[in-house]
Amino acid sequence: MSEPIKTDVVIVGAGPIGLFAVFELGLLDMKCHLVDILDKIGGQCAELYPEKPIYDIPGIPYTSAQGLVDALLQQIKPFNAQYHLGEMVESMEKIGGPLFRVRTDQGTEFESKVVVIAAGGGSFQPKRPPIPGIEPYEGTSVFYAVRKMEAFRDKRVLIVGGGDSALDWTLNLAPIARHLTLLHRRSEFRASPASVNKMMALEGEGKIDLVFGQVTALEGSGGQIAKAIVKTNEGSTFEIACDALLPFFGLTMKLGPVANWGFELHNNELIPVNTENFETSMPGVFAIGDINWYPGKLKLILSGFHEAALMAQKAHHYVHPGKRLVFQYTTSSTSLQKKLGVAPQRAQA
Ligand SMILES: Cc1cc2nc3c(=O)[nH]c(=O)nc-3n(C[C@H](O)[C@H](O)[C@H](O)COP(=O)(O)OP(=O)(O)OC[C@H]3O[C@@H](n4cnc5c(N)ncnc54)[C@H](O)[C@@H]3O)c2cc1C
Repeated sequence: MSEPIKTDVVIVGAGPIGLFAVFELGLLDMKCHLVDILDKIGGQCAELYPEKPIYDIPGIPYTSAQGLVDALLQQIKPFNAQYHLGEMVESMEKIGGPLFRVRTDQGTEFESKVVVIAAGGGSFQPKRPPIPGIEPYEGTSVFYAVRKMEAFRDKRVLIVGGGDSALDWTLNLAPIARHLTLLHRRSEFRASPASVNKMMALEGEGKIDLVFGQVTALEGSGGQIAKAIVKTNEGSTFEIACDALLPFFGLTMKLGPVANWGFELHNNELIPVNTENFETSMPGVFAIGDINWYPGKLKLILSGFHEAALMAQKAHHYVHPGKRLVFQYTTSSTSLQKKLGVAPQRAQA
């Protein structure tokens, strides 16, 4: 096994609050690694409502959810956080005082002085399609995400779904798969019109097959799928020979592994914290954003931003013990401006 990554802070979740935590921690000289099960940055904003307008971010009368994520990424750029996307944090254990070992389902291991749980409503997990007997194939020849495109080179791939993920992976895998079939229930797609047009062009050129219907059964052995049985909307049945099945039926949010990290959860789903610094019952472990609970909690982005600022003050004690923390404004502190990479502003007369 490779050496663990040593860092000041591991942030579980790269939603808006995990991202802003990088800023507040960075101003106080703490380096961060962020882990997210999604293959993109931005949490609910990026996954659930990227184009919806948000009107209640202080000082920003209007932005789209993706616009907010992009602005946060720009704001935290000076702090050079490291991202580990497509990985789920599975375990977190205390190995020192405080020092934590954090492990992901992809085998990445961290050793950090502080853990910040910014896991929102929990981990996004793929919805399993209603195909009887699909379980034995999962992870071997049925996949709910594409971690490495190369794994599908020269394979006969069957993609099922009509949303953005199904269409994006159809476009991306068509050039490397031996044969690719896109199967959808009906001729209307939820994916962006641009992707649908590109997919239709591929179909027109004979580079992919587009089929309407639903998978009703799978055949294969030892976890390796050989064919899918498909029922058309008219009721007839036929087979599609395939080596890999990629069903994209959307995502649901589940608390996931956080439930096993030793917290007494509020309503079985939220991590109680104190409102002085948003630390959990475990010293050195903080919970901010939608995942936490305290009397009066509001699941708003602005609440999470406030929580991140106070969390960073206490985290500093663990990461830089004995070092005095001086409260400073970014408007007037040349040292903070240096960290942000902006030219120091002259004091006004
Ligand atoms: C449709 C909609 C509209 C909204 N509109 C507004 C609005 O106008 N104003 C407002 O303030 N709020 C709004 N919200 C709420 C807002 O989006 C949330 O408050 C905000 O996203 C919380 O941010 P977060 O970073 O705490 O969590 P999230 O955005 O949920 O991000 C958490 C991340 O943690 C990851 N994660 C969880 N567990 C693990 C694990 N074990 N390992 C790795 N990664 C993990 C998840 O994959 C996720 O990406 C809206 C929400 C929705 C759904």
